[in-house]
This record gives sequence, structure tokens and C-alpha cells, in this order.
Amino acid sequence: MACDRYPRSGAKNNCLPAEGMVPSRQHIPVYMDGEELCMKIRVLGCHGSQLPHHNTTSFFLEKSILVDAGTVTTVLSLEEQLRIDYVFVTHAHLDHVRDITFLVDNLYYAKRERPLTVCSSRGIIENLHRHLFNNVIWPDFSKIPSAKAPLIKFEILAPGRKKILGDWQVRAIGVHHTVETIGFMMESKGKAVLFLGDTGPTDGVWKVARRMKGLKAVFIETSLPSSMQGIADKTGHLTPVTLMGELKKLKDAKPKIYLYHMKPRYAEAIRREVTAIQDRKIHIIEDGQAIRI
Ligand SMILES: [Zn+2]
Ligand SMILES: [Zn+2]
Repeated sequence: MACDRYPRSGAKNNCLPAEGMVPSRQHIPVYMDGEELCMKIRVLGCHGSQLPHHNTTSFFLEKSILVDAGTVTTVLSLEEQLRIDYVFVTHAHLDHVRDITFLVDNLYYAKRERPLTVCSSRGIIENLHRHLFNNVIWPDFSKIPSAKAPLIKFEILAPGRKKILGDWQVRAIGVHHTVETIGFMMESKGKAVLFLGDTGPTDGVWKVARRMKGLKAVFIETSLPSSMQGIADKTGHLTPVTLMGELKKLKDAKPKIYLYHMKPRYAEAIRREVTAIQDRKIHIIEDGQAIRI
């Protein structure tokens, strides 16, 4: 079974075929597919804003790692939430971090003792601490229940340096947005997946992607249609035109391309433009989808 679902009203039952595999660290379940290991990515939300049935960005790498946390607590059961140990945050914009607040609140009242580790660059963690977990917008859970044994641990990832998490190696790479933003190259047993976060045209990350042996998938945004190129450039986002420019930077590398972060209002216009692109097969992802890599 290449695709499975969790309850969510109104979600479309689209799913992508399984392909390849990335295994995982110890307590992430490993899916056997013949002799090979497989990593499953659940799309909890993949839109650039929120409307009914359009959730904001979060990817769940079962069962304990999130990449971004725009939508977590409205779609995962409490039992699933309790298994989450790490949140890798691409940037501090609310559509990518909002549900860390409710997740940590749920962990507190469920009396979970081990902390949730929020991993990102120094600047992004400072933004989260100063502007979100600041005892005004939300309690500072890095000191609750105590500074010695807090419910949130912030962990700084040095740009380019690999963090080892069991079988996983995670690398933060800067991209281009209106605030400090990083993408994540996530590797395991010779296979890799790149999550770009929000970005306009950028360069450094593609240099890493081109050299990355075993790069199987790239998750990249396209927020607006090409008719809105001006506002896309101003807000550090891609359109189908600039997306094509970015994908050309992959040169001969041929990972699967998964597109997300469309502003719901412009989804159909973007879809029409992307469908016309001939050079590469681009998969537009949906909330609730499960993808095997
Ligand atoms: Zn965003
Ligand atoms: Zn953003």
C-alpha cells in the first residue's frame, strides 16, 4: 500500500506512488518494501495560507520528526503528538510554527517528561523565543515546568554542519526569503530528501543538491502564479516561472519534485501553469497525502 490516510474531513484522496526509500532512526517505524527500507512522509499541511481544507505547512516523518509545524494538533491524535521528539523549523513565520504552541501545551497536560527539541539556526530560534515563546504571545516553555527540565529545548544547527539523529543526518542550508530561512537536507542510509522551506530564487542550496548522492526528492514551494511575479519577488516566494529557473540549477540531478505552499486562492492558476511545464515531472502535493521515498 503506497498511501494511507488519517481522518480529515473534505481531504482529497490523492496519493503518490511509493518510490525508493529512506530508513529512519530507531523509533521511527521502518516500512519494508522487498529488501529495502522506506521512509514515509505524511503531509499534515502544504498550503501557503489557511482556508477550510487547506492547512499550513507541516511534514511528519513518522513517528517522531516534524519538518515545520504549521498544522499539527488539528490533524494528529494526542497519541501521535506524544511521539514527536523533534521539530525542524525552516523559519519563524506563523504558517510554519503555529502548532508548536498547542503541541507543547498538549505535552505538558499529558505529563510527558521528555522535552520537544526544536531545531533551527541561531537567528530563527532567537526569533521564536523573542516573538512567540515570550510569555506574552505564549508561555516560555523552555522554562516550564523548570529551566532544568523544560518542555521545549531549542537546539541550534550550524549552517552546513550535519546533525546526527540515529540513522539520520540533517543539514541546514540557507535559502532566500524575507526573514532568515533554512532548508533541510535529510539523509539516511545513502538516500536524501531536501525540504526547501519558503524561498525565492536562491543558489547555495542547489550547489549542495547537485553534489548530493542519493537525492531522491525535493520539496519546493510555489506560492503565486507568474502573473504576480512582482509580489512574489517582494515577498521571497516562487512562481512557476522562477520555479523553472530554480529547477534548472539541479542540472543533471533528477530527484522527484514535490510542489507545495500554494496560496489557496491561486492554486488552480498555478496548477495550470505547472502542468504545462515540459522539462520535469512535477507532483503537486495535497494535505493528508502520504509519500514513500
Ligand atoms: Zn510560508
Ligand atoms: Zn515565510
